[in-house]
Amino acid sequence: MTQETGGFAALDLNPNIVAAVLATGYEEPSAIQQQSIPIILAGHDMIGQAQTGTGKTAAFALPILNKIDVSKREPQALILAPTRELALQVATAFETYAKQMPGVNVVAVYGGAPMGPQLRAIRNGAQIVVATPGRLCDHLRRDEKVLSTVQYLVLDEADEMLKLGFMDDLEVIFDAIPASRQTVLFSATLPSSIRSIAERHLREPKHVKIQSKTQTVTAIDQAHLMVHADQKIPAVLRLLEVEEFDALIAFVRTKQATLDLAAALEAKGYKAAALNGDIAQNQRERVIDSLKDGRLDIVVATDVAARGLDVPRITHVFNVDMPYDPESYVHRIGRTGRAGRDGRALLLVTPRERRMLQVIERVTGQKVAEARLPNAQAVLDARIKKLTNSLAPLVAEAEATHGELFDRLTADLGCSARALASALLRKATNGQALDLATVEREQPLVPSFAPRGERTERGERSDRGDRGERERRAPLPLAEGRVRCRTALGARDGIAAKNLLGAILNEGGLARDAIGRIQVRDSFSLIELPEDGLERLLTKLKDTRVAGKQLKLRRYRED
Ligand code: ADP
Ligand code: MG
Repeated sequence: MTQETGGFAALDLNPNIVAAVLATGYEEPSAIQQQSIPIILAGHDMIGQAQTGTGKTAAFALPILNKIDVSKREPQALILAPTRELALQVATAFETYAKQMPGVNVVAVYGGAPMGPQLRAIRNGAQIVVATPGRLCDHLRRDEKVLSTVQYLVLDEADEMLKLGFMDDLEVIFDAIPASRQTVLFSATLPSSIRSIAERHLREPKHVKIQSKTQTVTAIDQAHLMVHADQKIPAVLRLLEVEEFDALIAFVRTKQATLDLAAALEAKGYKAAALNGDIAQNQRERVIDSLKDGRLDIVVATDVAARGLDVPRITHVFNVDMPYDPESYVHRIGRTGRAGRDGRALLLVTPRERRMLQVIERVTGQKVAEARLPNAQAVLDARIKKLTNSLAPLVAEAEATHGELFDRLTADLGCSARALASALLRKATNGQALDLATVEREQPLVPSFAPRGERTERGERSDRGDRGERERRAPLPLAEGRVRCRTALGARDGIAAKNLLGAILNEGGLARDAIGRIQVRDSFSLIELPEDGLERLLTKLKDTRVAGKQLKLRRYRED
């Protein structure tokens, strides 16, 4: 069976489903769809491994729609997804693919909305339930029979569900569904926890794996820029001047950074907003909708908050802060170049993150070329181009409406046409610098540093010969004799650096200065500890709890 033969029509799907899929503009099934659909149609359990953006939703939604009995008004398929947003996205996809199948009802079940209407929708004949595990368990506690008619179970983004701590809920749900069901599991990665679930709950599953070097990555034009950590915001502002983007998502690591960058962008007149785990669900949906319809052009997000975000307008992904691993890099940049469109991904790299860049290049099998910050001349050219583009349509028309006024003003002011036009330009451009000297003065100094043995580009004069300054700014690498350790507890668990410090000082018996930097992320934290005696220390901390949760500290290797 090859990729080209017959497209969707050859997949043995109900013609109404094929028609709806073609009507949404899909031409060919993606690789994961091509391989999964026949397996699911044939009734096998399946494990599908493929990265973001490969089309996993239709890979399970189409065969499931094919299988459900529309005349029966009871839950037949259950799809589990890690977040409310993903659940809504999957539910919407089902509705799209079922457009020409009257009588199909889909209900999305998630936290943060009242339970009553959700339960009623299930009982009123929804054949397809798309749910987050936590909320579904709440429903099961009210009505343990609610899933007793389910025949098809899909775990979408299974690795994310486990990362979000849904393991126990999944077990409860498995038990509440008849054992005769068909089970399909999709995941970008297959850690041992997922394999163990599959061993216990799937029957002779077929494996489908789409290798991570797919067109999703290759269609994207990637580049990196070297920049000092405290110069990231000016660097982003300068890049935005020259990048021609439609919509853009900027990734940072912390909630605070989403707020800081979004504020800086808004101050420059961009339509930007922050998206992080603190922002209420309904507000998050509003942000995403605004990005979709153009009321916003830039969203500054953390990885967790951007999960599953799928906005076709996105042409650019800015990795303002480094992703934690190559996989999340691939996930992030998969937000652009969706479904074969062109996309551009930029990665800011600070001196000590060079190694992570190399890891990314090795894992994706691609070089991420180095780009330079645009200099003042490039910024000026871009500004003039924008101004020219904005005036072009007016030049063709405005004389008819404003020509007489112009004549009158030149007469009243007793000035030349050039003088008046210049005055109008100054007014229209609102004080924006449009000559080289001023742009040079106005551009914040961004001392990007040259790679080994190269000189900085012209226009980066501030940096030239300033090696002392450069070295002072470079953040320290991991100190001699220290290693990084990781815990799965993070800001999301209500953890602050001082809690971790306290726990390790108290229970590990270390001196304060033996502990290096502590970085608290949303879903985990990194702590620098002495390599000497590490095993002993980790054993001592084996049962330590912080904020009521097991610390489970482990040595962390970046590659
Ligand atoms: P994943 O779950 O693997 O991250 P999705 O199912 O969300 O991917 O699909 C990613 C995007 O690709 C969506 O916008 C979807 O509409 C689109 N898409 C999926 N399958 C196809 C196809 N066969 N042809 C064109 N676009 C597709
Ligand atoms: Mg998906």
